[in-house]
Amino acid sequence: MKKICFKCRAEKDLDGFYKHPQMGDGHLGKCKECTKKDARVRTIKRKCLECLKEFMTWPTEIKRGGGLTCSRTCYYKRFIKIVGRDEASPNWKGDEVGKTALHNWVERKLGKPKKCEHCGDTKKGKYDWANKSQEYKRELSDWIRLCKACHAKYDYPTRLAKWRVKMKIIELNGENACFASKRLGGGSGLIHGRLRRGWTIEDAFTKKVIKKT
Ligand SMILES: [Zn+2]
Ligand SMILES: [Zn+2]
Ligand SMILES: [Zn+2]
Repeated sequence: MKKICFKCRAEKDLDGFYKHPQMGDGHLGKCKECTKKDARVRTIKRKCLECLKEFMTWPTEIKRGGGLTCSRTCYYKRFIKIVGRDEASPNWKGDEVGKTALHNWVERKLGKPKKCEHCGDTKKGKYDWANKSQEYKRELSDWIRLCKACHAKYDYPTRLAKWRVKMKIIELNGENACFASKRLGGGSGLIHGRLRRGWTIEDAFTKKVIKKT
């Protein structure tokens, strides 16, 4: 079966058109090429939330909760306001320096960890001293030996809780897109990403929109 694209008037096979269940023949009236071309055109007018200038953006950008700012510059200005200047910086170390000193102190007192107290593993070879309270107390009872895998699981709830605080700020600001930036513990680097409308922080992790950089 052939079909004529209403846009470019070319006659093409049906598989030259994207599927669309609401259409009579189950396909769009516009061919794939024309659909792709149109997707590249900025058709939506928006007001930049940062500089208040009007700008044009893509429908796909709106769909994924973006299109809030007119440029990279405004995006970062806004990003900094939401997450804070320090954390927005790629050089942000947070309290990592203090943490390293504390880790060194624990290691001096209790030695290098050689097993995981959670899963009992002694073969993986790489273990951390993990902080139980997440308050980084200078108390030896506040530290536990964990393998990398258990450590990540162990820190996860705290990490989520911290992220949720940021989420709240974002909601108060009436955002429909969310920004998130956090340096993860254990030297995993900065994660920085944008969530989709209605998504929770958990979604961001499970759906992996937050990229580690
Ligand atoms: Zn066409
Ligand atoms: Zn702007
Ligand atoms: Zn373990």
